[in-house]
Amino acid sequence: MWKLSERMGGLPPYLFIEIDRKKKELQEKGFEVINFGVGDPDMPTLPRIVEALKCSVSDSSVHRYPFGKGRKDFRNAISGYYDRYYNASIDPEEEICVLIGSKEGIAHFPFAFLNPGEYALIPEPGYPVYHIGTFLAGGQSYFMPLQQSNGFLPDLGAIPSSVREKAKLLYLNYPNNPTSCCAPEEFLLEAIQFCKDHHIILLYDAAYAEIFYEGKRPISFLSLPGAKEVGIEFHSLSKTYNMTGWRVGWACGNPSLVKGLATLKENIDSGTFEALQLAGLEALVGPQTDVANLRAIYQRRRDVLVEGLKKRFPEIIAPEATFYVWLKVSGDGADFARTLLEKAQIVVTPGIGFGPSGKEYVRFALTIDEEKITEALSRMDNI
Ligand SMILES: *Cc1c(COP(=O)(O)O)cnc(C)c1O
Repeated sequence: MWKLSERMGGLPPYLFIEIDRKKKELQEKGFEVINFGVGDPDMPTLPRIVEALKCSVSDSSVHRYPFGKGRKDFRNAISGYYDRYYNASIDPEEEICVLIGSKEGIAHFPFAFLNPGEYALIPEPGYPVYHIGTFLAGGQSYFMPLQQSNGFLPDLGAIPSSVREKAKLLYLNYPNNPTSCCAPEEFLLEAIQFCKDHHIILLYDAAYAEIFYEGKRPISFLSLPGAKEVGIEFHSLSKTYNMTGWRVGWACGNPSLVKGLATLKENIDSGTFEALQLAGLEALVGPQTDVANLRAIYQRRRDVLVEGLKKRFPEIIAPEATFYVWLKVSGDGADFARTLLEKAQIVVTPGIGFGPSGKEYVRFALTIDEEKITEALSRMDNI
């Protein structure tokens, strides 16, 4: 057996082994497990996009290496989309790089801009890839706790000056996974100013920008003055259009950051299949009524779950965005998750898996239908 590199040995352990094993065991015994654990839309890709791919894949001119920052027509569509929905002006020539899913860009970015020993400021609980990309590139992670008492926003003033002086990257993700919170404009402006003052690059993860409720679209980072001087935004078709399997995302914002990432990628991959980019173009320029329908479905699921959990957890916060419910349980989240699995065959994700500040929480993903949510609630009533 070959031994993995020391670098691989330093990756964080996979925390859900025990849950996965128990889930399989229950399924093998014939139990119907209800799974709130998966942050992956359960519904199929929107049909107009599937049709667009059937058409685009038949054109042999898209079958070769794509290379570069992505197709010009797709980049134009992304720029138009920012104009229409985010009130942000993005130059399609210099300020957009198409990615193989936004995770790819998030993981690779530190290789282009972070020197060994320099710090990345990373929110916790948070998406694990911020730390993993930083670690693999030889950087240091400084974790900023997201506390409920602070609106799940990091306290930038609490970062020690010794860390701040060696900091090169700041990751922010709103609407946030896993806490489901949105960032107010004042905070984003403060973060932009902080990055300007301390010469730090702001990496803004907007994967859930389109999954919002009550018609309240969250404020967009790139619409704010100064954002493009310090920042780059990662966005993706995955969550908005049920396209997680397709691997299409992009980075946009500051031209030198976009260029650095694109140059790194030229040396690693050869771009996103052009047929997928053409289908992605249809996703962005076609009528968005189907996206509104998806939001309505998630909103109903959210309402059923939050209403049901309220009896036992009166302090529960209904998310304003994302398809997650971040629930504070009384006691340890991992114990709560274990009890739900053993007594009710329900899977939820223990918050600690996203960072130590998630210890008293569990995350429910609204990626199962209303009927199953109702069934899960009645099972919970019986334990
Ligand atoms: C799902 C997700 C992503 C990445 O999605 P891709 O499919 O790689 O585009 C990025 N950030 C967060 C917080 C996510 O939850």
